[in-house]
Amino acid sequence: MTDTKAILETLSKDFPDPKSELHFNSPYELIVAVILSAQCTDKRVNLVTPALFAEAPTVNELAAIPTERLEALIRSCGFYRTKAAHLKQMARDVKERFGGNIPDNIEDLQTLAGVGRKTANVVYAVGFGGQAIAVDTHVFRVANRLGIVDAKNVSDTEKQLMQAIPREQWADSHHYILLHGRYVCKAQRPLCDSCSVSGYCKYYGEHHV
Ligand code: SF4
Repeated sequence: MTDTKAILETLSKDFPDPKSELHFNSPYELIVAVILSAQCTDKRVNLVTPALFAEAPTVNELAAIPTERLEALIRSCGFYRTKAAHLKQMARDVKERFGGNIPDNIEDLQTLAGVGRKTANVVYAVGFGGQAIAVDTHVFRVANRLGIVDAKNVSDTEKQLMQAIPREQWADSHHYILLHGRYVCKAQRPLCDSCSVSGYCKYYGEHHV
């Protein structure tokens, strides 16, 4: 049986300051950055957001910014037409339905344009200090390789992680697993020989005899 506790304790030493690598100063800036980060690196998003937030410091300006201008500002993040449409609709949603304040719960967050379960969990956990486990491609891959979960999709991965990890550790554990996937347990070539948790890893046990 996978020793989830030992894995998380080990990863907590590898990543003693678990937090998002996106730059933001408010829930508004965070939700915009997370929407932009789909299929894009956090580094790229961090290059784009300063100019965007200078022109659109709140949902009011974001809702009003001409679409062509918004697309130009976020173009390098990829999928810029879809992301621009989502950002503008999200800003309108927040203005019209939530008085201009980014909602602080997962259910309301998920009603916003461009905000799926993963984004809602990130904003709830990182922006509001809630406990949630956002499952992206890294978390899905690493949790399955380690054997903490045995899941075929992100939804089941989230449910199984929530069962395997104490609630008060959900947010930090999300960062540990994500950062481990980003820097060590990479998709194509996991760095198993320098991995701190190889001794607990199901994939390692199956592939390194
Ligand atoms: S041993 Fe390899 S597969 Fe397992 S968690 Fe470490 S890097 Fe990933």
